Amino acid sequence: MRCAEGGAARDLQLPPAMSDQHPRHQKPYANVLDTIAWTPLIRLNAVTAGIRTPVYGKAEFFNPGGSVKDRIGLPMIERFEREGKLKPGGTVVEGTSGNTGVGLALAAALKGYKCIFTMPDKMSQEKVRLLKAFGAEVIITPTAVPPEHPDSYTSMAKRIAKETPGAVLADQFYNQANPEAHEATTGPELWEQTEGKITHFVAGAGTGGTITGVARYLKKKNPKIQIVGADPVGSILAEVWRSGGKNMPQGAPYKVEGIGQDKVPGTLDLSLLDDYITVSDRDAFTMARRLTREEGLFVGGSAGLIAHAALSVARRINDPDACVVTVLCDTGERYLSKLFNDEWMRENQLLDAEKVSLGQLLETKGGDIPALVSATPGQSVRQVLGLMSLHGVSQLPVMDGAACVGSVSEATLSVRSLEDTKVLERTVSDVMDAPFPVVDADTAVDNAVKMLGRNNPAVLVRAHGTVQGILTRSDLLQFLMAR
Ligand code: PMP
Repeated sequence: MRCAEGGAARDLQLPPAMSDQHPRHQKPYANVLDTIAWTPLIRLNAVTAGIRTPVYGKAEFFNPGGSVKDRIGLPMIERFEREGKLKPGGTVVEGTSGNTGVGLALAAALKGYKCIFTMPDKMSQEKVRLLKAFGAEVIITPTAVPPEHPDSYTSMAKRIAKETPGAVLADQFYNQANPEAHEATTGPELWEQTEGKITHFVAGAGTGGTITGVARYLKKKNPKIQIVGADPVGSILAEVWRSGGKNMPQGAPYKVEGIGQDKVPGTLDLSLLDDYITVSDRDAFTMARRLTREEGLFVGGSAGLIAHAALSVARRINDPDACVVTVLCDTGERYLSKLFNDEWMRENQLLDAEKVSLGQLLETKGGDIPALVSATPGQSVRQVLGLMSLHGVSQLPVMDGAACVGSVSEATLSVRSLEDTKVLERTVSDVMDAPFPVVDADTAVDNAVKMLGRNNPAVLVRAHGTVQGILTRSDLLQFLMAR
């Protein structure tokens, strides 16, 4: 038995490592669809340091299409077949953030159906290419339109399904085969894998199929199991749940893909939830990156968001028998150009301050002002005040060659010049204050923040031995406010 760090919480019985593990995949499968589901449940270790309650991740990226949505592709298609709506040579149409498309495309490929998918333009390029790789036609729609707008990805999918002969709309947001698939597979797997010891299930809701189906199964097994929703900041679902459906706020954009909504889907039963936690894009992506680097679990942003929520749940539990399960919804490979790309993270102000260096911040400063405007010790105060007004800056370093020998500020110089106009003709070296500190370009922004106190309005940033630019209190403040 392995114990959670920091306490005596009871852990599940874990099999021995690697070579002695239960044999898996002992027999051949008839086709790839048979390998869907029965994904592993994996203990989170590094990211749970200091938390007593064990937290496990249901590793849905082990599915052949790389996500939890593989589970619903085949059941949705088979329902249409049973109802006689989908016939050989038919077409499956869906509005999808990508993963359902893959789940449907996998099943459609084996069954010989065509696929047409509509997808909002915020989704990663990898997902578009992936769907095309399975032979699907992909139509990109604008993200920034309300769901009822004719150009929204859901409206567009509806229209295409209506106008295409032999087509069905998979309709994951209303198709009850979606939650039923999770009630039939994900729920029982979790019950069995935890030997009935699961006490908290944390999941996000895109369609709500996962959380609704799993909640239905688990609550039947043990009504005390807590079902916790995890929602991106900007989604309306958590607020709708908190207000008991009375409040229908307006959604706001967010970057996490696959979970959260601006309307409540028909496949989400909010009455099954016991709590809802809201998580920012920043926390979601930071956790996805940590899960990858510290746990070796290469997952996307929704998994990061849900795991972040699961850790807050685990942190506040004080019960030696608690067992928290989170969903690792899809593979990180789908987000290589986004959350695993530092440049994209920086452009979207999503990197932690400690990971952004002063050099990087200087690069993003832009504007018309040169990176470094400086005075020399021999210039007159009049000249320097002119220089400040020309560039619209309020403080300057005084540079003697490559060395910063002092600093001047518009506030001090103008007060002194007003008191005595002769000061205007004096040289900078006579009136300058102490030099600004010089810091290396790879210094983390967070460390520099500590240096910019009352007595220090700016720092100079040095790279390859020369001063490259200046960062002032207001530059740092702007950065901190934007993140
Ligand atoms: N994460 C990702 C990446 C997804 O694509 C989805 C499905 N939209 C989910 C989580 C949520 O699953 P569900 O639709 O079952 O709520």
